[in-house]
Amino acid sequence: MKQLCFATNNKHKIAEVSQMLAGKYKLLSLEDIGCHVELPEEQDTLEGNSRQKAEYVWHNFNISCFADDTGLEVEALGGAPGVYSARYAGPQRSDSDNIQHLLKNLEPHQNRRARFRTCITLILDGKEHQFEGIVEGTITTDWQGNKGFGYDPVFMPQGYNKTFAEMTPEEKNLISHRGRAVQKLVVFLSTR
Ligand code: IMP
Repeated sequence: MKQLCFATNNKHKIAEVSQMLAGKYKLLSLEDIGCHVELPEEQDTLEGNSRQKAEYVWHNFNISCFADDTGLEVEALGGAPGVYSARYAGPQRSDSDNIQHLLKNLEPHQNRRARFRTCITLILDGKEHQFEGIVEGTITTDWQGNKGFGYDPVFMPQGYNKTFAEMTPEEKNLISHRGRAVQKLVVFLSTR
């Protein structure tokens, strides 16, 4: 079986994508390939960061790989926090601090429309390909639910009256930004 590195050590992400690749590729984590450093993410776009992480693995480990980067883009805040979503409330990267900061910044606004966007960069045999996944929704005024992670308790996807934090992982993956980007990646890989 061909090997492909997913440039992450997040076991939930690895399990999710392994399942979607259905035995066609053996998925390796960063740890599996002996990469123990934090990958550089110094760009100001999701496309740039996912490319930078994938290129790091390709150049240093010479293995076909892909990397993802996600941002929450809030319309009334001009697309913030976007590429800075993980550190919105500071370098401590705290989910609850980030949510509090977001709710406070949105207080004066009527428009609560937002979207999650994921960008994946795949480097297959040295050639780059990018895939995008988007889910539209709104930011709730209060926390709802305790599943998931990140901004899930305040993100309600369009067409639902519950947040991502009130959904099972299966329900969320079917419609989520990352789920949609990964579905595109899987379709592409199945043609190879
Ligand atoms: P990453 O690119 O997957 O590390 O995501 C960057 C930041 O976006 C994370 O720290 C989370 O705060 C947020 N984020 C990414 N994916 C999700 C999600 O599925 N739900 C909620 N927040 C997310």
